[in-house]
Amino acid sequence: MALLTLKDIGKIYVSEGSVSVGIRGVNLSFNKGEFVAVTGKSGSGKSTLLNVISGMDTYEEGELFIEDQPTSHYMQQDWEEYREKYISFIFQDYNIIESFTVLQNVELALMHIDDKKERRKRAMELLRRVGMTSHIRQKGSKLSGGQKQRTVIARALAKDSPIILADEPTGNLDAATSAEIIELLREVSKDKLLIVVTHNFEQVEAYSTRHIRIFDGSVESDQKYCGTPSIDICEKEKEDTQRSIKKQIKNGITLGRTIFTAKPKLSVFICLLLIVGTLGVFLMTTLCGNANDIFEKKYMFTHIDGRLVVTKRSGEVISQEEVDILVEKYGAKDSLRYDILLDMGNSVYVTFSEEEDYWEKSASLNYTYGKKYSGKIIGRYPEKENEVFLYLPVYWQPTVGKESLKLKEVMIDSVYYDLVGVKYFYDNNHLGECLFTEEGFNFATARHFIMNNSSVMVKVVSTKEQGSQIFQLHNIYVSFDMDPDKIYIEHNAYNNLPSDAFTTTVTYSSEYYKYNYNYNGSEKIYIFNKTFTDENITRVRPVVKNKRIMSESLIMSDELICRIAQEVLNLKYTQASLFFEDDEAAHQAAEQIKKEGYIAVPSNTTYEPGAEETMMSLISSLVLVFAWLIAIVFLAFFINLCLGRTLGAFKGDMAIMRSMGIPVKVIRIGMYVRMLISLLPAFVVVAVSAALIYTSPKTNEYFVYLYAWQYVMIFIGMILLTVRVTYRQIRKLFGQSVKKALKGVNKE
Ligand code: ADP
Ligand code: MG
Repeated sequence: MALLTLKDIGKIYVSEGSVSVGIRGVNLSFNKGEFVAVTGKSGSGKSTLLNVISGMDTYEEGELFIEDQPTSHYMQQDWEEYREKYISFIFQDYNIIESFTVLQNVELALMHIDDKKERRKRAMELLRRVGMTSHIRQKGSKLSGGQKQRTVIARALAKDSPIILADEPTGNLDAATSAEIIELLREVSKDKLLIVVTHNFEQVEAYSTRHIRIFDGSVESDQKYCGTPSIDICEKEKEDTQRSIKKQIKNGITLGRTIFTAKPKLSVFICLLLIVGTLGVFLMTTLCGNANDIFEKKYMFTHIDGRLVVTKRSGEVISQEEVDILVEKYGAKDSLRYDILLDMGNSVYVTFSEEEDYWEKSASLNYTYGKKYSGKIIGRYPEKENEVFLYLPVYWQPTVGKESLKLKEVMIDSVYYDLVGVKYFYDNNHLGECLFTEEGFNFATARHFIMNNSSVMVKVVSTKEQGSQIFQLHNIYVSFDMDPDKIYIEHNAYNNLPSDAFTTTVTYSSEYYKYNYNYNGSEKIYIFNKTFTDENITRVRPVVKNKRIMSESLIMSDELICRIAQEVLNLKYTQASLFFEDDEAAHQAAEQIKKEGYIAVPSNTTYEPGAEETMMSLISSLVLVFAWLIAIVFLAFFINLCLGRTLGAFKGDMAIMRSMGIPVKVIRIGMYVRMLISLLPAFVVVAVSAALIYTSPKTNEYFVYLYAWQYVMIFIGMILLTVRVTYRQIRKLFGQSVKKALKGVNKE
């Protein structure tokens, strides 16, 4: 059995309309252990012969047999495998990977060895054999011609393939070096088939076992000297370890890392490019983050996990007793008879206690009561009616205090409360919360009615027949220290009247509006009156937290406010909230409660349909989405373009690797791995920037907080982009035959 047989092989080149013959009618047979010298004039077809044998070029006529197996049916993929298994190629122009070190060049060909240490040992051994031990860390680009060729020989040997092909390996070397290289080749390939093309036969004469002369594409003569050495050829199947996917991935990763580190400047450039790109996408997303609003559900009732809103089907007021029965019967954790504040985000104005008239900031916060937050808090939870705890986005920290409370009081719905504690959060998509005691929450509820739906008329009648006067009071203030049965009138004209000469009647009316989300089209359904006479009117100005009491005001105690509100609410407020373990439990309870003549709505089902979105906010959201899309497309285009430009840098290396018979899959994986490695710094930079932006009180306010899924989307997007670019690079690189690709390299 011959190792390699060529039967009537012909190769024709067709280029730009002209046809030229490469080789024709070549019949040759080779065995292991032969040192074949091929000579002939320039253009006679020597290189064509080697290229056909190596599978780097195709043939049109005849048949090439490898270990007696025909190859004419081979596809590109089969040739890659063939090269990987049988061929080592040594070129005239060395084709060393210039960006790799000598050691890396050789180790590249040793990837079939799994153990890293073993691989290194073997590479060192090969380099010792070619006399390159002292240059192993040198980059390919820094070597002399002879050194390059030695490295290539070591690399060719590393593969341990049965066939070594050398196309004028000494063509670019001086005579002394050439002799050394030939001797080296002979020495290291005793048990292999070595075919050397040379224009200088004397140089190889001493070593060769056979001399083939080519003339005009045909074999002119074929002389064997020492007879064909009778070494058994390739009886044992070569282990097919290279082919296993796991191994290819492993090798691909190693290769990717090597490619990444081999061109540090280029790698840094690509990393920077990807950092800019990813950071750009991140910043655009967080700056346009409000665009998410169009996907956000707006709840009619604030969604609190487990909250169930109930009201009687008859439209009557639901009593506290009825609420208690429902709680008992359906196992609710808690209930709230007057739950209107839960659905009312309210602006909180904050001022420093030292600088009283300085209005610093305002925020929209949800009302809540009687709960505890996990983690560390600053200060304590509220204990009294007039105390509040704030749960705030971290950008409030400079105002409210970092380690201790800088701020002592806050105004919520026009009432001043003592601020006793605070906790910060980083997700600025959330509304904050103002947390009261249950008592405080009830007061705030009452206060809400009194504030928004009240008018006060004061009628003063002289006891000495001097006529009467009517004042209108426009503001209501609360004093937490006041006698619950008394009121105080702050009015310049009134305060100047002598108290004993007049009788005063204050008519307080509260208009109750049916609750309607957004207060659009509210319906006045009740007017409540309460009359105070002289004995209830105090002449001593009570202490009010807000010392900026305006004129034409009525001041009363918290208790009185609650009492008045209670009377209105007891008569008119028809809704209550029950709280269950979670939404699921709320849904289950709702099914049962509905059967008892109630309307029961779990809060998570009450989002409003999109139609209620105002046109303006919809348009502005769409504009943001559009701006975001344009920016992203622009960035993607930019990155795509820049990365595409880096393609040239790899063209040559890829071609050389292919000519070495490194499996295309491994090279592909290597290219992808290299790109993904380049992406890692971008991900780290984005993660760190995000952490800095959101935890810093200075910037938290201006960048919309992104959720994990949004980062995942950004990262996946970037991965897809780089994979796409790499895919296109690879397609370009592998689209042409090795020979063409190599030609491109040597032209550069
Ligand atoms: P040698 O290596 O002996 O100098 P080659 O094998 O390179 O000769 O070339 C043999 C013949 O084939 C020459 O006539 C050459 O012009 C032609 N040839 C080689 N490569 C190509 C090619 N890629 N396209 C067209 N003609 C080619
Ligand atoms: Mg040639």
